[in-house]
Amino acid sequence: MLAYTYVGPERFELLEKPRPTLIDPRDAIVRVTLGSICTSDLHIKHGSVPRAVPGITVGHEMVGVVEEVGAAVRSVRPGQRVAVNVETFCGECFFCRHGYVNNCTDPDGGWALGCRIDGGQAEYVRVPHADQGLTPIPDAVSDEAALLVGDVLATGYWAARISGITSDDTVLILGAGPTGLCTLLCARLHRPRRLIVCEPDPVRAAFVRTHWPDVLLTTPDACRDFVLSHSEHGGADVVMEVAGSPTSFRQAWECARPNATVTVVALYDEPQVLPLPEMYGKNLTFKTGGVDGCDCAETLRLIASGQLDTTPLITHRFPLDRIDEAYRLFESHADGVIKVALTPPTGAKS
Ligand SMILES: [Zn+2]
Ligand SMILES: [Zn+2]
Repeated sequence: MLAYTYVGPERFELLEKPRPTLIDPRDAIVRVTLGSICTSDLHIKHGSVPRAVPGITVGHEMVGVVEEVGAAVRSVRPGQRVAVNVETFCGECFFCRHGYVNNCTDPDGGWALGCRIDGGQAEYVRVPHADQGLTPIPDAVSDEAALLVGDVLATGYWAARISGITSDDTVLILGAGPTGLCTLLCARLHRPRRLIVCEPDPVRAAFVRTHWPDVLLTTPDACRDFVLSHSEHGGADVVMEVAGSPTSFRQAWECARPNATVTVVALYDEPQVLPLPEMYGKNLTFKTGGVDGCDCAETLRLIASGQLDTTPLITHRFPLDRIDEAYRLFESHADGVIKVALTPPTGAKS
Protein backbone atom coordinates (compact mmCIF):
# COMPACT_ATOMS: atom_id res chain seq x y z
CA MET A 1 0.00 0.00 0.00
CA LEU A 2 1.00 3.65 -0.35
CA ALA A 3 2.21 5.28 2.87
CA TYR A 4 3.61 8.78 3.33
CA THR A 5 6.71 8.23 5.42
CA TYR A 6 8.97 10.29 7.67
CA VAL A 7 12.28 9.21 6.14
CA GLY A 8 14.39 11.74 8.03
CA PRO A 9 14.66 15.46 8.74
CA GLU A 10 12.99 17.47 5.95
CA ARG A 11 12.20 14.23 4.08
CA PHE A 12 8.69 12.81 3.74
CA GLU A 13 8.23 10.29 0.90
CA LEU A 14 5.33 8.29 -0.48
CA LEU A 15 6.58 4.70 -0.21
CA GLU A 16 5.16 1.27 -0.92
CA LYS A 17 4.76 -0.60 2.40
CA PRO A 18 3.04 -3.82 3.51
CA ARG A 19 -0.54 -3.44 4.78
CA PRO A 20 -0.66 -3.26 8.59
CA THR A 21 -1.86 -6.32 10.50
CA LEU A 22 -3.38 -6.80 13.95
CA ILE A 23 -0.69 -6.97 16.65
CA ASP A 24 -2.80 -6.84 19.83
CA PRO A 25 -6.34 -8.19 20.45
CA ARG A 26 -7.45 -4.58 21.12
CA ASP A 27 -6.31 -3.38 17.67
CA ALA A 28 -8.38 -2.59 14.60
CA ILE A 29 -7.30 -2.20 10.98
CA VAL A 30 -9.00 0.71 9.24
CA ARG A 31 -9.12 1.30 5.48
CA VAL A 32 -8.58 5.05 5.20
CA THR A 33 -11.21 6.73 3.02
CA LEU A 34 -10.12 10.32 3.70
CA GLY A 35 -7.14 11.86 5.47
CA SER A 36 -5.79 15.32 6.15
CA ILE A 37 -2.60 17.22 6.95
CA CYS A 38 -2.03 18.92 10.30
CA THR A 39 0.51 21.55 11.31
CA SER A 40 1.95 18.91 13.67
CA ASP A 41 2.93 16.89 10.58
CA LEU A 42 4.97 19.89 9.45
CA HIS A 43 6.59 20.03 12.90
CA ILE A 44 7.69 16.40 12.45
CA LYS A 45 9.02 17.16 8.98
CA HIS A 46 11.08 20.07 10.26
CA GLY A 47 12.48 18.13 13.20
CA SER A 48 10.68 19.86 16.09
CA VAL A 49 9.03 16.65 17.35
CA PRO A 50 12.01 14.72 18.79
CA ARG A 51 9.86 11.72 19.76
CA ALA A 52 8.78 11.16 16.14
CA VAL A 53 10.32 7.91 14.91
CA PRO A 54 12.02 7.93 11.47
CA GLY A 55 10.43 5.36 9.17
CA ILE A 56 6.90 5.78 10.51
CA THR A 57 3.94 6.57 8.29
CA VAL A 58 2.77 10.07 9.18
CA GLY A 59 -0.79 11.43 9.47
CA HIS A 60 -3.15 11.47 12.44
CA GLU A 61 -6.34 12.95 10.95
CA MET A 62 -8.44 10.41 9.09
CA VAL A 63 -11.73 8.64 8.70
CA GLY A 64 -12.25 5.21 7.22
CA VAL A 65 -13.96 1.86 7.27
CA VAL A 66 -13.10 -0.88 9.78
CA GLU A 67 -11.55 -3.82 7.91
CA GLU A 68 -10.65 -6.11 10.77
CA VAL A 69 -10.80 -6.10 14.58
CA GLY A 70 -8.90 -7.99 17.28
CA ALA A 71 -10.69 -10.48 19.55
CA ALA A 72 -11.01 -8.00 22.44
CA VAL A 73 -12.57 -5.14 20.44
CA ARG A 74 -16.20 -4.53 21.46
CA SER A 75 -17.35 -1.10 20.25
CA VAL A 76 -16.74 -1.34 16.48
CA ARG A 77 -17.08 -4.08 13.87
CA PRO A 78 -15.83 -4.62 10.30
CA GLY A 79 -17.69 -2.56 7.71
CA GLN A 80 -18.43 0.34 10.08
CA ARG A 81 -17.42 3.89 9.08
CA VAL A 82 -15.32 5.43 11.83
CA ALA A 83 -13.54 8.62 12.87
CA VAL A 84 -10.02 7.91 14.13
CA ASN A 85 -8.90 9.73 17.28
CA VAL A 86 -5.47 11.40 17.22
CA GLU A 87 -4.89 10.10 20.74
CA THR A 88 -4.42 6.52 21.77
CA PHE A 89 -5.74 5.84 25.26
CA CYS A 90 -6.50 2.78 27.33
CA GLY A 91 -9.71 3.96 29.01
CA GLU A 92 -8.65 2.31 32.30
CA CYS A 93 -5.74 4.17 33.92
CA PHE A 94 -6.15 6.98 36.49
CA PHE A 95 -5.95 9.72 33.85
CA CYS A 96 -8.35 8.02 31.40
CA ARG A 97 -10.90 7.43 34.17
CA HIS A 98 -10.83 11.18 34.92
CA GLY A 99 -11.16 12.19 31.26
CA TYR A 100 -7.51 13.30 30.98
CA VAL A 101 -6.88 10.90 28.11
CA ASN A 102 -3.98 12.96 26.76
CA ASN A 103 -2.05 11.80 29.82
CA CYS A 104 -2.91 8.09 29.47
CA THR A 105 -0.08 6.08 31.01
CA ASP A 106 -0.29 3.20 28.49
CA PRO A 107 2.97 2.80 26.47
CA ASP A 108 0.98 3.83 23.36
CA GLY A 109 -0.88 6.58 25.30
CA GLY A 110 -1.15 10.13 23.95
CA TRP A 111 -0.22 11.18 20.43
CA ALA A 112 1.26 7.96 19.01
CA LEU A 113 -0.41 7.63 15.59
CA GLY A 114 1.69 9.15 12.86
CA CYS A 115 4.38 10.10 15.39
CA ARG A 116 5.64 7.04 17.29
CA ILE A 117 3.61 4.38 15.40
CA ASP A 118 2.40 4.26 11.79
CA GLY A 119 -0.35 6.79 11.03
CA GLY A 120 -2.95 7.41 8.39
CA GLN A 121 -1.59 9.25 5.36
CA ALA A 122 -1.79 5.80 3.83
CA GLU A 123 -4.31 3.32 2.51
CA TYR A 124 -4.66 1.40 5.79
CA VAL A 125 -3.85 2.12 9.43
CA ARG A 126 -3.63 -0.03 12.56
CA VAL A 127 -5.39 1.66 15.50
CA PRO A 128 -4.42 0.39 19.00
CA HIS A 129 -7.08 0.46 21.75
CA ALA A 130 -9.71 0.59 19.02
CA ASP A 131 -12.59 0.70 21.53
CA GLN A 132 -11.36 4.15 22.60
CA GLY A 133 -9.66 5.30 19.40
CA LEU A 134 -12.50 4.75 16.92
CA THR A 135 -15.91 6.41 16.93
CA PRO A 136 -18.67 5.20 14.57
CA ILE A 137 -19.79 7.91 12.12
CA PRO A 138 -23.58 8.36 11.88
CA ASP A 139 -25.00 7.56 8.41
CA ALA A 140 -26.10 11.18 7.94
CA VAL A 141 -22.52 12.47 8.36
CA SER A 142 -20.23 12.43 5.30
CA ASP A 143 -16.53 11.57 5.44
CA GLU A 144 -15.64 15.23 4.85
CA ALA A 145 -17.96 16.35 7.66
CA ALA A 146 -16.30 13.86 10.05
CA LEU A 147 -12.69 14.34 8.87
CA LEU A 148 -11.61 16.82 11.55
CA VAL A 149 -13.43 15.15 14.47
CA GLY A 150 -10.44 13.23 15.83
CA ASP A 151 -7.89 16.06 15.97
CA VAL A 152 -8.44 19.78 15.33
CA LEU A 153 -12.16 19.68 16.10
CA ALA A 154 -11.47 17.62 19.22
CA THR A 155 -9.00 20.34 20.24
CA GLY A 156 -11.51 23.12 19.65
CA TYR A 157 -14.24 21.26 21.53
CA TRP A 158 -11.97 20.56 24.49
CA ALA A 159 -10.68 24.15 24.58
CA ALA A 160 -14.21 25.57 24.62
CA ARG A 161 -15.32 23.06 27.26
CA ILE A 162 -12.50 23.78 29.73
CA SER A 163 -12.85 27.55 29.27
CA GLY A 164 -16.22 27.64 31.07
CA ILE A 165 -17.85 30.09 28.62
CA THR A 166 -21.17 31.63 29.73
CA SER A 167 -23.83 33.59 27.84
CA ASP A 168 -22.59 36.85 29.45
CA ASP A 169 -19.06 36.48 28.16
CA THR A 170 -16.95 38.32 25.65
CA VAL A 171 -14.68 35.62 24.23
CA LEU A 172 -11.45 36.51 22.43
CA ILE A 173 -9.85 33.89 20.16
CA LEU A 174 -6.30 34.56 19.00
CA GLY A 175 -5.61 32.90 15.64
CA ALA A 176 -7.91 31.81 12.80
CA GLY A 177 -5.94 28.87 11.45
CA PRO A 178 -7.61 25.44 11.33
CA THR A 179 -7.49 24.94 15.11
CA GLY A 180 -8.52 28.54 15.82
CA LEU A 181 -11.52 28.14 13.53
CA CYS A 182 -12.53 24.86 15.19
CA THR A 183 -12.18 26.62 18.55
CA LEU A 184 -14.42 29.40 17.23
CA LEU A 185 -17.07 26.91 16.07
CA CYS A 186 -17.05 25.15 19.44
CA ALA A 187 -17.06 28.42 21.43
CA ARG A 188 -20.23 29.36 19.50
CA LEU A 189 -21.95 26.27 20.91
CA HIS A 190 -21.76 27.96 24.34
CA ARG A 191 -23.55 31.06 22.96
CA PRO A 192 -21.36 33.81 24.45
CA ARG A 193 -22.54 37.42 24.21
CA ARG A 194 -19.69 38.38 21.91
CA LEU A 195 -16.96 36.58 19.93
CA ILE A 196 -13.84 38.42 18.80
CA VAL A 197 -11.25 36.79 16.54
CA CYS A 198 -7.76 38.28 16.21
CA GLU A 199 -6.03 37.24 12.99
CA PRO A 200 -3.22 39.03 11.11
CA ASP A 201 -3.72 37.25 7.75
CA PRO A 202 -6.33 39.24 5.75
CA VAL A 203 -7.32 36.13 3.75
CA ARG A 204 -8.08 34.16 6.90
CA ALA A 205 -9.89 37.16 8.43
CA ALA A 206 -12.01 37.41 5.27
CA PHE A 207 -12.76 33.69 5.57
CA VAL A 208 -14.18 34.28 9.06
CA ARG A 209 -16.16 37.32 7.86
CA THR A 210 -17.68 35.30 5.00
CA HIS A 211 -18.70 32.25 6.98
CA TRP A 212 -19.50 33.70 10.42
CA PRO A 213 -20.49 37.35 9.85
CA ASP A 214 -21.57 37.87 13.48
CA VAL A 215 -17.98 37.40 14.71
CA LEU A 216 -15.98 40.61 15.38
CA LEU A 217 -12.53 40.76 13.79
CA THR A 218 -9.34 42.51 14.82
CA THR A 219 -5.59 42.31 14.17
CA PRO A 220 -2.73 41.80 16.68
CA ASP A 221 -1.71 45.49 16.55
CA ALA A 222 -5.23 46.74 17.24
CA CYS A 223 -6.36 43.86 19.45
CA ARG A 224 -5.96 45.31 22.94
CA ASP A 225 -7.79 48.56 22.21
CA PHE A 226 -10.44 46.72 20.21
CA VAL A 227 -11.16 44.30 23.05
CA LEU A 228 -11.25 47.13 25.61
CA SER A 229 -13.81 49.01 23.53
CA HIS A 230 -15.90 45.88 22.91
CA SER A 231 -16.12 44.51 26.45
CA GLU A 232 -17.75 45.72 29.65
CA HIS A 233 -15.15 45.01 32.33
CA GLY A 234 -11.76 46.01 30.98
CA GLY A 235 -11.04 43.03 28.79
CA ALA A 236 -12.31 39.70 27.56
CA ASP A 237 -13.96 37.34 30.06
CA VAL A 238 -12.39 34.35 28.29
CA VAL A 239 -9.31 34.39 26.07
CA MET A 240 -8.40 31.37 23.96
CA GLU A 241 -4.83 31.56 22.65
CA VAL A 242 -4.60 29.46 19.48
CA ALA A 243 -2.05 31.55 17.56
CA GLY A 244 1.27 30.50 19.08
CA SER A 245 3.11 33.51 17.65
CA PRO A 246 6.07 35.14 19.47
CA THR A 247 3.75 37.83 20.90
CA SER A 248 0.42 36.05 21.25
CA PHE A 249 0.90 34.67 24.77
CA ARG A 250 1.51 38.15 26.15
CA GLN A 251 -1.41 39.47 24.14
CA ALA A 252 -3.67 36.76 25.56
CA TRP A 253 -3.28 37.79 29.19
CA GLU A 254 -3.06 41.52 28.41
CA CYS A 255 -6.47 41.37 26.70
CA ALA A 256 -8.07 39.45 29.59
CA ARG A 257 -10.10 41.28 32.26
CA PRO A 258 -9.26 40.73 35.92
CA ASN A 259 -10.33 37.25 37.08
CA ALA A 260 -10.66 36.02 33.49
CA THR A 261 -9.80 32.58 32.17
CA VAL A 262 -6.97 32.32 29.65
CA THR A 263 -6.90 28.98 27.83
CA VAL A 264 -3.65 28.26 26.03
CA VAL A 265 -4.24 25.87 23.14
CA ALA A 266 -1.22 27.01 21.09
CA LEU A 267 2.07 25.19 20.74
CA TYR A 268 5.10 27.47 20.94
CA ASP A 269 8.53 27.17 19.42
CA GLU A 270 10.08 29.13 22.31
CA PRO A 271 9.57 29.24 26.12
CA GLN A 272 7.02 31.86 27.21
CA VAL A 273 7.37 34.29 30.11
CA LEU A 274 4.82 34.59 32.89
CA PRO A 275 5.65 38.08 34.27
CA LEU A 276 3.98 37.71 37.65
CA PRO A 277 4.79 41.24 38.93
CA GLU A 278 2.94 42.73 35.95
CA MET A 279 0.03 40.36 36.48
CA TYR A 280 -0.26 40.91 40.23
CA GLY A 281 -3.86 41.62 41.19
CA LYS A 282 -5.22 40.53 37.86
CA ASN A 283 -6.05 37.13 39.38
CA LEU A 284 -6.08 35.24 36.12
CA THR A 285 -6.76 31.55 35.70
CA PHE A 286 -4.58 29.87 33.07
CA LYS A 287 -5.56 26.56 31.51
CA THR A 288 -2.95 24.81 29.40
CA GLY A 289 -2.17 21.54 27.78
CA GLY A 290 -2.84 19.09 25.01
CA VAL A 291 -6.32 18.08 23.94
CA ASP A 292 -8.20 15.40 25.85
CA GLY A 293 -9.87 13.97 22.77
CA CYS A 294 -12.57 11.91 24.43
CA ASP A 295 -15.69 13.74 23.16
CA CYS A 296 -15.74 12.47 19.57
CA ALA A 297 -19.13 10.77 19.92
CA GLU A 298 -20.61 14.06 21.17
CA THR A 299 -19.04 16.13 18.38
CA LEU A 300 -20.31 13.63 15.77
CA ARG A 301 -23.78 13.94 17.33
CA LEU A 302 -23.56 17.75 17.04
CA ILE A 303 -22.48 17.41 13.40
CA ALA A 304 -25.33 15.00 12.63
CA SER A 305 -27.85 17.40 14.20
CA GLY A 306 -26.52 20.37 12.21
CA GLN A 307 -25.09 22.29 15.19
CA LEU A 308 -21.46 21.94 14.12
CA ASP A 309 -20.12 22.05 10.56
CA THR A 310 -16.42 22.06 9.71
CA THR A 311 -16.85 21.33 5.99
CA PRO A 312 -16.12 24.97 4.99
CA LEU A 313 -12.62 24.45 6.43
CA ILE A 314 -11.83 21.78 3.82
CA THR A 315 -10.78 24.08 1.03
CA HIS A 316 -8.68 21.74 -1.16
CA ARG A 317 -8.78 18.08 -2.22
CA PHE A 318 -5.99 15.83 -3.52
CA PRO A 319 -5.52 12.15 -4.31
CA LEU A 320 -2.97 10.54 -1.98
CA ASP A 321 -0.44 10.18 -4.82
CA ARG A 322 -0.25 14.01 -5.03
CA ILE A 323 0.42 14.40 -1.31
CA ASP A 324 3.74 16.26 -1.85
CA GLU A 325 1.81 18.97 -3.67
CA ALA A 326 -0.84 19.02 -0.92
CA TYR A 327 1.88 19.53 1.72
CA ARG A 328 3.45 22.39 -0.23
CA LEU A 329 0.09 24.13 -0.54
CA PHE A 330 -0.85 23.56 3.12
CA GLU A 331 2.47 24.87 4.39
CA SER A 332 2.49 27.94 2.10
CA HIS A 333 -1.02 29.11 3.19
CA ALA A 334 -1.45 29.95 -0.52
CA ASP A 335 -4.78 30.01 -2.36
CA GLY A 336 -6.78 30.51 0.85
CA VAL A 337 -6.03 26.96 2.03
CA ILE A 338 -7.32 26.02 5.47
CA LYS A 339 -7.40 22.19 5.37
CA VAL A 340 -6.82 19.66 2.61
CA ALA A 341 -8.56 16.31 2.16
CA LEU A 342 -6.52 13.39 0.81
CA THR A 343 -8.18 10.41 -0.87
CA PRO A 344 -6.19 7.14 -1.04
CA PRO A 345 -6.68 5.01 -4.19
CA THR A 346 -8.68 2.53 -2.10
CA GLY A 347 -10.63 5.30 -0.38
CA ALA A 348 -13.27 5.78 -3.03
CA LYS A 349 -14.78 2.29 -2.54
CA SER A 350 -17.12 3.20 0.30
ZN1 LIG B 1 -2.84 17.38 14.53
ZN1 LIG C 1 -5.20 5.37 30.03
